Amino acid sequence: MPTLLCVPILVQDESAAMADAVAARDSGADVVEFRVDEFFSGVQDAAGNLDVREVNGILRLVAECPLPCIVTCRSATEGGHYDGDEMARVALYERLGTAGERRGADAPGDAVGKEKPPRSGGPPGGHPPRYLDFEMSAYATSANLRQKVHLAVDWPEERREGRSGLILSMHDFQGRPADLLRRVAAMGREEAARVVKVAITARSLRDNLELFDLLRENASGKPTIALGMGKFGLMSRVLAPKFGGYLTFASLRAQSATAPGQPTVREMLDVYRFRSIGPKTKVYGVVGWPVDHSLSPLVHNAGFEAIGHDGVYLPLPIAADEKEPGGETTYLSFKATLEALLEYPGLDLAGLSVTMPFKEHLVRWCGESRDAGTVTSWDRQACAVGAANTVWVDGGVVEVANTDARAIEVLLEGALGQFSGKNAAIIGAGGVARAAVWACASRGAAVTVYNRTRERAEKLAGEMQDGPRRQFERAIQVAELAELEASRADVVINCTSVGMVGGVGGSEPEGMAAPVERMTQLPEHAVFMETVYRPVETPMLRAAKARGFRTIDGVQMFVEQAALQFEMWTGKPGPRGLFERICREAIAAREGGG
Ligand code: NAP
Repeated sequence: MPTLLCVPILVQDESAAMADAVAARDSGADVVEFRVDEFFSGVQDAAGNLDVREVNGILRLVAECPLPCIVTCRSATEGGHYDGDEMARVALYERLGTAGERRGADAPGDAVGKEKPPRSGGPPGGHPPRYLDFEMSAYATSANLRQKVHLAVDWPEERREGRSGLILSMHDFQGRPADLLRRVAAMGREEAARVVKVAITARSLRDNLELFDLLRENASGKPTIALGMGKFGLMSRVLAPKFGGYLTFASLRAQSATAPGQPTVREMLDVYRFRSIGPKTKVYGVVGWPVDHSLSPLVHNAGFEAIGHDGVYLPLPIAADEKEPGGETTYLSFKATLEALLEYPGLDLAGLSVTMPFKEHLVRWCGESRDAGTVTSWDRQACAVGAANTVWVDGGVVEVANTDARAIEVLLEGALGQFSGKNAAIIGAGGVARAAVWACASRGAAVTVYNRTRERAEKLAGEMQDGPRRQFERAIQVAELAELEASRADVVINCTSVGMVGGVGGSEPEGMAAPVERMTQLPEHAVFMETVYRPVETPMLRAAKARGFRTIDGVQMFVEQAALQFEMWTGKPGPRGLFERICREAIAAREGGG
């Protein structure tokens, strides 16, 4: 059975909740979950009756909902808002589960996804929700309470066709309980449970793999929802169909998420192509820290769609040590995560883009793995550059490459033709600068590296020049940033984050990486190339255009390096036009606050 896509709706106002349910249907969801824990107070009168307006409001929502629904009154102890009387909560469930004595037309039926006609403002009591969700921690407290819950739901000991099914759930907002497997099995053993739900806080990508284990091995023996909350848990939400998850949640709007890390329905359907994910779908992703704003998932998923490739591309964050991103702690967590993903059975990891701060770590890992004989083939460029941005897994063979370097080569070739005898000014001495130096120097250009921290530039030049396989025709020169003014370069490449808006290192959005107006010795045909792509037109590019120089912007580089990755992974031409359109639109939307 295909995994259901469920939109949670935090009910505060009845008509707003109904409008959201209609919007959820229109956006392509299968199910909605009415979270009534803010709406339902649990207040009872002296005779023990529930507030009739609250109960009738919820009954009306269920009766008029255009999609099958779950009703959940989530306890404050498990991340919800309800902190009222427990028996009042169970009484609400009983009222909902037994709604409408008549069976037949009003019964919820088994075919989730089948619409019911909306009934404008009709009297409450039409039919029970498809499911009621109750936490295992509460369910386990007393036999009396369990007995009352059983009255509300259909369960095997006493079949009550047409009543709600029970979702037994557990949530951990701190992490993952040590006895997760035991708890899931225990929930599955409860006869009344129709579905078992577990939501943990994923502390790293590896926690998702444990959730996949629960699904693959059917640890509960029942249909199971197994989700990781937080930014590390997205993988479990999107890949639920690959591992047979019963249902996954997606919010209607980014602001209406009911759990941390919940994607929107539009992201699920349009970006991740949720409906096309199945057991054989290959998994790709971008590994970095942070990766929240990466454009790579947008372009690669659209590319897979365009060529009909059965793949999905995800953001895959690996936390880096903030104080020392290049250090040992970061490397060890990168290595452990990468190896866990590569080795996980059934994940079908087929390719990775690797970004800051792991590009150098990937080269180190590759060297160590090769020495250990476990991996690998890597290309000469990645090795020579000392940084790599691409992993490709094919038939158990792991390959590593640097498409940044190749992208710079391709773009400069288009602009300059021959490199040999040309002068290149590379600004910066980080990972991208390495790729740029390699691209230019290996084709015979005379390269000068200009960097804020001179020692770093000298280190780069020394390492790239002196390595056994790094023989360039001309020695790489190092100069002060101030000397750029006297440059006679045919090509000037900004490989710093100067000029970038937001993001890591985007500290000088108004800054000019090169003093274009004062660079009076440049030849007329000089080309300015930018690696920063937010904004598309940086102050440096704007000034270069104003002086009539040719320019290559950071989007062109991004598109080229991504297209080269796409070609490695799929064997098909990278759809550069599509990638470029998506990038420019996404950047424009973000610049406009969208
Ligand atoms: P990195 O390794 O952190 O290196 C950053 C470089 O920028 C260093 O040389 C640093 O100088 C210099 N720098 C930073 N702030 C500066 C400032 N205020 N003034 C002068 N120099 C400054 O970063 P990276 O991985 O090479 O990435 C560099 C840029 O390329 C980033 O903006 C990134 O977004 C972009 N990029 C683009 C693409 C694409 O496809 N278009 C791909 C990858 C990266 P110090 O050595 O003195 O610290």
